Amino acid sequence: MLDLAIIGGGPAGLTAGLYATRGGLENVTMFEKGMPGGQITQSSEIENYPGVTGEISGMDLMMPWPQQCQKFGLKHAMVEVDRVTHNGKFFTVHLADGTTEDAISVITCTGSTPKKAGFAGEDEFFGKGVSTCATCDGFFYKGKEVAVIGGGDTAIEEAFYLSKICKKVYLVHRRDTFRAAPNTVARLKNTANIELILNATPKEVLGDAMGVTGLRVTTQQGEITLNVPGVFTFVGNNVNNTVLKQENGAFLCEMTPWGEVVVDITMATSLKGLYAAGDMRISASKQVVCAAGDGATAALQAIAYVDSYKNH
Ligand SMILES: Cc1cc2nc3c(=O)[nH]c(=O)nc-3n(C[C@H](O)[C@H](O)[C@H](O)COP(=O)(O)OP(=O)(O)OC[C@H]3O[C@@H](n4cnc5c(N)ncnc54)[C@H](O)[C@@H]3O)c2cc1C
Repeated sequence: MLDLAIIGGGPAGLTAGLYATRGGLENVTMFEKGMPGGQITQSSEIENYPGVTGEISGMDLMMPWPQQCQKFGLKHAMVEVDRVTHNGKFFTVHLADGTTEDAISVITCTGSTPKKAGFAGEDEFFGKGVSTCATCDGFFYKGKEVAVIGGGDTAIEEAFYLSKICKKVYLVHRRDTFRAAPNTVARLKNTANIELILNATPKEVLGDAMGVTGLRVTTQQGEITLNVPGVFTFVGNNVNNTVLKQENGAFLCEMTPWGEVVVDITMATSLKGLYAAGDMRISASKQVVCAAGDGATAALQAIAYVDSYKNH
């Protein structure tokens, strides 16, 4: 029986692994279906990880993390997890290869995946001008013009964020109304450097080897091209929560209506011994440093839980 099973090997999972093993848990396995590192490895540049100065890619940032954990005894199983169940006493991790592993405690850190807006070139230029994170990439467009795609609360908040950094923000929305609160919509309309492009559909991102150069948009007045080097899409988010889904369709612990795991400030879920960390948890800031902090917090709790479980 494992002391602790960690599911997902991004910044949250790796930091949980570091703290759990270094903190005395002896039998800890991190289940990661691919190479450890998580979604930041798709980023060509990260500038906001504290203490790391100079140009560094997400891949280079994450490279030493698994080695650091392995030094303290973290085991990495490169296998996908189908589901986690609980029999009232301990957890069972069901693996895609048909085997299972029992564990006293579990930390799930499987992240979340932004939905695609569906225009041509979106995948090709992802991370090279097309972004799903204003906090991550907004600064790269300081003093420049950018386009934001979406009309939900997140798109509006991110447009406000970008309007403080960028010269101009085009907000491309497929309707002519917004569901956000009336005072938010009024603020949006009154922000001088945000221009609303309504009843509009993004068709294609334009670019070359250097990155994005524009966005082709269909409007009711015809087709226009926004000459922007940055395109931010905020059209929803899929939380990678299937490992918590039970055979009867219910979740193992409390979730929000949007599929995020409900945790308290110690990363504890509604089920004792089960923790969630990083982008998959409620109100996540979706940043590497925050995911890492969550992982550390969850691991410290898991150490205490395993200790009391064994001494009970
Ligand atoms: C292009 C890009 C640029 C970004 N730029 C920045 C930035 O500049 N600064 C910043 O702070 N943040 C940035 N982010 C956000 C940052 O990457 C995330 O906030 C962070 O990676 C979240 O960490 P996590 O550990 O919660 O999840 P993830 O990094 O998503 O890791 C989850 C891991 O779980 C694994 N997994 C999922 N399901 C299973 C399963 N069933 N079984 C086994 N393994 C599974 C996945 O393979 C993945 O490795 C960026 C993200 C992207 C995509």
